[in-house]
Amino acid sequence: MAEIETLHSVVWWLDHDTVWGQLLCSAPEGSNCRLICDKGCESWPCGCEGHELVDYGKCNAAEWITDCGSLEEMYSGKDLRPLKDGPVEVTWEGDYYSWRYVDDFLPRTDDG
Ligand SMILES: [Zn+2]
Ligand SMILES: [Zn+2]
Repeated sequence: MAEIETLHSVVWWLDHDTVWGQLLCSAPEGSNCRLICDKGCESWPCGCEGHELVDYGKCNAAEWITDCGSLEEMYSGKDLRPLKDGPVEVTWEGDYYSWRYVDDFLPRTDDG
């Protein structure tokens, strides 16, 4: 069975009347999700002359989701599935991040 390498995963926390999700990143320094414009442009690649992408020291996606939204709002995978911890694919959508579980990409195994 093919294994998909993933750099991001989610973990869900339950605290009596609250559930919240956290995005974890294990991408090495210099990975796409860690890059920002060295002149501080909001979008990237910003395309400005002389600007370079540099490592931010942490994951943009994880920070963005923590600061600007909630994990469940950014979910873009299959409808109605149980909450679970596990590896996810994170996508930059132009002005926000979305994510879905990596196993959404795996071929179905229940048709043979
Ligand atoms: Zn720039
Ligand atoms: Zn990351």
